[in-house]
Amino acid sequence: EAQKETLGFQTEVKQLLHLMIHSLYSNKEIFLRELISNASDACDKLRYNALENDALYEGQSDLQVTITTDSENNSLTISDTGIGMSRQDVIDHLGTIAKSGTAEFLSQLTGDQKKDSQLIGQFGVGFYSSFIVAEEVEVVTRKAGSASGEGVRWVSKGDGEFTIENVEKAERGTSITLKLKADEKEFSEDFRLRNLIRKYSDHIAVPVLMEKQDFSQPEEGEEPVEKAPEFEAVNEAKALWTRSRTDVKDEEYQEFYKHVSHDFADPLAWSHNKVEGKLEYTSLLYLPGKAPFDLYHREASRGLKLYVQRVFIMDDAEQFLPLYLRFIKGVVDSNDLSLNVSREILQQDPNITSMKSALTKRVLDMLSKLAKNDAEKYQTFWNEFGSVLKEGPGEDFSNKEKIARLLRFASTHNDSDVQNVALAEYVERMQEGQDKIYYLTAENYNTAKSSPHLEIFRKKGIEVLLLADRIDEWLMSHLTEFDGKSFQDVAKGELDLGDTESEEDKKAQEEAAEKVEGMVERVKELLKEQVDDVRVTHRLTESPACVVLNDGEMGEQMRQIMAAAGQ
Ligand code: ADP
Ligand code: MG
Repeated sequence: EAQKETLGFQTEVKQLLHLMIHSLYSNKEIFLRELISNASDACDKLRYNALENDALYEGQSDLQVTITTDSENNSLTISDTGIGMSRQDVIDHLGTIAKSGTAEFLSQLTGDQKKDSQLIGQFGVGFYSSFIVAEEVEVVTRKAGSASGEGVRWVSKGDGEFTIENVEKAERGTSITLKLKADEKEFSEDFRLRNLIRKYSDHIAVPVLMEKQDFSQPEEGEEPVEKAPEFEAVNEAKALWTRSRTDVKDEEYQEFYKHVSHDFADPLAWSHNKVEGKLEYTSLLYLPGKAPFDLYHREASRGLKLYVQRVFIMDDAEQFLPLYLRFIKGVVDSNDLSLNVSREILQQDPNITSMKSALTKRVLDMLSKLAKNDAEKYQTFWNEFGSVLKEGPGEDFSNKEKIARLLRFASTHNDSDVQNVALAEYVERMQEGQDKIYYLTAENYNTAKSSPHLEIFRKKGIEVLLLADRIDEWLMSHLTEFDGKSFQDVAKGELDLGDTESEEDKKAQEEAAEKVEGMVERVKELLKEQVDDVRVTHRLTESPACVVLNDGEMGEQMRQIMAAAGQ
């Protein structure tokens, strides 16, 4: 066990390392944020595990991160007193990528640096970003509670393999030393590091310590004395959500988002609230600007980071938001829950149900506000997450109307596939006498746009919503009315144009119908096995005929979804 072995990185790690070093170079300083973020997570985990087993502190309960530099050797060390890693942990976490969909993600990379750096950001950069600035990285770690001989030393140049061996380590926790590349000396400079810590890690709740600068000059004739180094916290070291809203700058909210979400880009919006009364909790909810690469993976992580009285309890607490808001990131800190709360308990606690409905309302309000105040940002949100929000009316009956106001559709009004028409706008543009909201679903936008069903609507200047997302038929089966108007699929049933038709129109239609009665009979005879009925229609103004579904019949999209599901 103790002997040294050389192991290869998983293929995906090799690819990711290579890409990261090249595409994130212009952002290289973020490695420090990532390492401090990991150190802080490790401290959180230790505090949580020590709730049940105090011995894990090994008599030393200070949780902190210490940064030291060695300018002679051009190196930098980030140490923490967190949970540490066992030999197997090291192999698992610092040699492989466990996320599902990684291969698929890597195959999307293009070689275009700008695009790739965005994608890598969505994927999360993490520990491996140290190789952007380091020619060699050494990790020395020991899991809290294990014997001092069970320390582990991991070394790699980031070129495909690493060595691992057991070493003595007196203190628990992890120490990461970066041997900086020759032209990255700046990261061993005290002043530069302090600035970076304040910029990226001010919000981290554990103190990040650096050696105090000693500017005192020895008195004339006096021998300089070796003093033990003194350390001071460089960051604010206060959990950001416990501070008052007016105290926190936008940049701080943004950096904190990157820590909790492992995202690389800025969030679009956030909502920070303290609730007092019967239930007491603080929530800080973020709306990401970019969908993660695994948004549609079943196993993708979702949910909030849960704290109880400032103590970290778990990641991905899914019980606080409905599924259709799974893109929201953030923190909830409760004063009422017990410190040993588990996922099972969360599922059954009626207080969680009421927190869930309050948090849901917060998110919907945040979205409404964004839609109202910043249409452009809202559109960005919609393009990324709209199809997830469309699950809402089916999942959350009580907020149906609110969600409906947030929906955006492509429509014949704009003649573009961009989904940017709100139902309220549609209603405002409705024709005199029109009492329904018309829509059409199809496999894709182009098929919808060129459907013969639209002919009569185009002629009359009546707007029709064009729906082509996989989820749309499901959505429309739950969305029955908006603002007192019902929805009508223009491809289904008898066409009812309300009072938009004049008496003359109707008379002309009847006359036309009489003229072709004989032909209708003949077509019926010909198609009798394949169709329910053949009717004269005034839907069409140019095409000679079209297929229509009965009201309540499953649409083409739904049929395909059911068929795919083996039904
Ligand atoms: P992420 O933080 O998104 O999980 P990282 O690449 O940053 O991804 O880290 C990978 C894993 O390595 C972490 O999830 C953690 O298990 C482990 N790890 C990294 N740094 C530390 C540390 N300082 N202490 C303990 N474990 C760590
Ligand atoms: Mg990390």
